[in-house]
Amino acid sequence: MKILVLNAGSSSQKSCLYELNDTQPDRPLQPLWEAKIDWTHQQGVSELKVKTAKGTQFEEEFASESRTDTISRMLETLWKGETQTINDLNEIDIVGHRVVHGGQDYQESTLISPDVKKAIARLAVFAPVHNPVNLEGIEAIENLLPNVPQIAVFDTAFHAQLPPAAFVYPGPYEWLENGIRRYGFHGISHQYCARRAAEMLNRNLADLRLISCHLGNGCSLAAIRGGVSIDTTMGFTPLEGLMMGSRSGSIDPGIIIHLLRRSDITAEKLDNILNQNSGLKGISGVSGDMRQIGEAISQGNERAQLALDIYIHRLRAGIGAMLASLGGLDALIFTAGVGENSAFVRATACEAFGFMGLKLDGEKNQQVQGDEDIATADSAVRVLVIHTQEDWEIARECWKFY
Ligand code: ADP
Repeated sequence: MKILVLNAGSSSQKSCLYELNDTQPDRPLQPLWEAKIDWTHQQGVSELKVKTAKGTQFEEEFASESRTDTISRMLETLWKGETQTINDLNEIDIVGHRVVHGGQDYQESTLISPDVKKAIARLAVFAPVHNPVNLEGIEAIENLLPNVPQIAVFDTAFHAQLPPAAFVYPGPYEWLENGIRRYGFHGISHQYCARRAAEMLNRNLADLRLISCHLGNGCSLAAIRGGVSIDTTMGFTPLEGLMMGSRSGSIDPGIIIHLLRRSDITAEKLDNILNQNSGLKGISGVSGDMRQIGEAISQGNERAQLALDIYIHRLRAGIGAMLASLGGLDALIFTAGVGENSAFVRATACEAFGFMGLKLDGEKNQQVQGDEDIATADSAVRVLVIHTQEDWEIARECWKFY
């Protein structure tokens, strides 16, 4: 069966095509075709990059009016031209979408129906950047492939079993009644990493206590017991918790009150400050990209150094909080861009937990290739680097419906 995965971001659209047989493979398969569209560089210009399992690569730039147009152009490269992988779009059996917010009602992957679409639209008030673009992706596929089942795979679903003490905010009780509660995000990645960790450790997931550190542009931690997320750092929105590339993470809400009392601050401006101009970028003034922070530090940039120091301080504090929720730890997992690639971040984060017998193998940490256990043989806690495979996890969820 052929599964098309769509993963929409605020300024990007990724997609890939997998082919699965009747038995579900344990390890991720290589996609037959992968495409990414980026809108970050020039206004109104889509940069498309495509590669296939056969090694063909294709790049083009084109002017685009809407996400629907862009998705149509991207999918054309599946059945036309040098990256052609299938003969026609009707070969696709099922389409899976990463949908960021599933609210309280959608606690697992769901077949998309008019009601599910309405719910995704309604939940856009909680995820204004992501849910509308997820919906556009769903509608683009509806136009192109009206008879193909589509599955919504929610980023919030993995955290659906958080205990009330972890998900209720200590504000007025009406907040909870109005859906203002912690949901948690990055669930697709945390779920993949938990299963992969059990596999790498050759242990039963049901017996494991794990902390998964998803450190990309967005960053979150999950405390996972027996394969279930019991605590996490992101909350009502993906703004809570750790310091991120351009997001502040948790700050004293009194700061917001203070700023709102200044008449020139609007909700839009606050949103822009906290989501786009804070975090590593806001503090360093250089960039939200960890590689550029590293370069700036090597050139003696003190604000970049401060940004990294805060990032590490908050990461350690977050791991400490997850540890307390779990009451012990079998493995600490690092994943996503920073987690997979920054030996420095892993080493400095782990240093704080030496007191409990967690020992990192310095050499292994520097030379990670693929998924690896980088703790010493006598470490009391395993430390795993796992290359997250969100698209594969979405494909796996779709497979369950077939
Ligand atoms: P997203 O959350 O958008 O999916 P990624 O998981 O790709 O993002 O992570 C992006 C982050 O990973 C950026 O901060 C980038 O600097 C960082 N990163 C990527 N490669 C490296 C590297 N070799 N060393 C340090 N950081 C890296």
